[in-house]
Amino acid sequence: MDVSTVASEAEIDKPQQVDLDRCVHCGLCLNACPTYRELGVEMDSPRGRIYQMVQVAAGAPITDAYQEHIDLCLACRGCESACPSGVQYGKLVEAARSQIENEVERGFWTRTLRDFVFRKLLPSPALLTAAGAGLWLYQASGVQKLLRVTGLIKLLGPMADREALAPAAQIPFFFREIGKTFPAEGKQKYRVAFMAGCIANVSFARLNEATVRVLQKNGCEVVVPPAQTCCGALHVHAGIRDTARDLARRNVDAVVDGNYDAIITNAAGCGSTLKEYGELLEHDPKYAARAAKFTSLMKDVTEFLGSIELNQKMGPVNATVTYQDSCHLAHGQKIRKAPRDLLKAIPGLDFKPMPLSDICCGSAGIYNVLHTDLSMKILEKKMVNVNYTKAQVIATANPGCMIQLEAGVRKWGRGNERVVHVVELLDEAYANVGK
Ligand code: SF4
Ligand code: SF4
Repeated sequence: MDVSTVASEAEIDKPQQVDLDRCVHCGLCLNACPTYRELGVEMDSPRGRIYQMVQVAAGAPITDAYQEHIDLCLACRGCESACPSGVQYGKLVEAARSQIENEVERGFWTRTLRDFVFRKLLPSPALLTAAGAGLWLYQASGVQKLLRVTGLIKLLGPMADREALAPAAQIPFFFREIGKTFPAEGKQKYRVAFMAGCIANVSFARLNEATVRVLQKNGCEVVVPPAQTCCGALHVHAGIRDTARDLARRNVDAVVDGNYDAIITNAAGCGSTLKEYGELLEHDPKYAARAAKFTSLMKDVTEFLGSIELNQKMGPVNATVTYQDSCHLAHGQKIRKAPRDLLKAIPGLDFKPMPLSDICCGSAGIYNVLHTDLSMKILEKKMVNVNYTKAQVIATANPGCMIQLEAGVRKWGRGNERVVHVVELLDEAYANVGK
C-alpha cells in the first residue's frame, strides 16, 4: 500500500465532523446505554463519549482518560436505536478507536499481543486449529473440571472469571467442511454461500453444521467457499481497520463472483461488519463496486429464512423459550421480527418474551474478556430478566452472546436452562418430524 493511501485512510478513520454534528446532546439515549446504567457516569454514556470525541476533533489531546471511556463502550449500538436524531454511534466509536490505534503508541507487549491475535491468529485456520486443540485437551482431559470442582480455579485470581468464559472446543472442527458444497433437500430454489467465521469453526462447529442443514431443508444448495477468512469484525471493533480491509478484500474475492442468491452468516456480530464491507472499502477504487455487491447479498440466517417461504415440515420442540436480541442484529442490522417469527413457527414451542431483551448482555465481542468485572455486572442484570421469563431455553442469534449467556446461566441461572441459536431449534424441529 503506498504512503498516500495510508495518509488518506488515517484521515477517513477518525470521527467525521458531519457525523459528530448530528448529536444534539438531548440525552434520550442515556437510559439505553448499559455502561451508563451501570456506572452512572456521563463520560461513560453515549452523549458523554460523543462530547469527548468532539473535543478531540477540535484539537484536544487523546488522553488516557479518553481512551478508557472509549474502551469501556460495548459498541452495542443500543444508543443508536434510541437516538431520534439518527446519530450513527457505531460508526463514530469505531472511528474513535481507529484514531487511537493510528495515533497512540502502545507499549511493546500490548502491541505484540494485539498483532498476534488480530493479524496472525484470527485469520489463520492453522493457528486456530492448534489453539482449539489445546483448549479441547484442557477441557476433555478433565483438567478444567478438576480445577472447577476443587475450587483450585480461584488460584487464577481475576483470570478465573475469564476462564469461565472460554467456549467449548467442538471436535471435529468445522474447518473440514470449508470448500464443500451441500446439495438442497428436494427441489433446489436457492444457491447460497455460507460464511463459517473464524473461532466459530472451533467453538461453534455444531451450530455451523445445524445452519447448513436448516438451509438445505429450505431448498438451498449451500457452498462453503474455500478462500473465505475471518470477517474482520473484531478488528473493526478494536480500531484495526487496515487488517479489517485486507480481510474484507479476501472475502469479497472468495465469494462475490460465485453467482449466489445470498451470502449467509449465523453470527450477528460478523454479519453487521460483513454488511459494512461496502462502506469499509468505498474509497478503494478496485474494490468499491465489488464490496457494494457483496453487501447487497449479505444476509443473517434468520433474515434470510424470514424472507422465504419457510419449510413447515417440522416436529414439535416442547419447551418454553425466550429470546435475547443480539445487539448487532437488533441495533446493528435492525432485525428483531425474523428470529421471533421463526421461533413462533416451531410446533410445541411456548414463546416467552423477555423484558429489556435488546439491552446488551455484556458479551460484545471480546469485551467480556477485556472488561470482565463490568461485563459480569451487566450480565447479572440481564439474568434477572432471563429468570423472570422462567424459560427452559434461551435463544439468541450470535455465538458471542451464547458464550456470555451460558456463563450467566451457570452463575445466576435457575438450573439446567439451555442456551441455543435460533437455527439450532429449527434444526431440532426438522429432526423431530414424525415424533
Ligand atoms: S446520540 Fe442521539 S439521543 Fe444521544 S444525546 Fe446525541 S442526539 Fe441525543
Ligand atoms: S454503544 Fe452501547 S455501551 Fe456504547 S455508548 Fe452506545 S449504548 Fe452505551
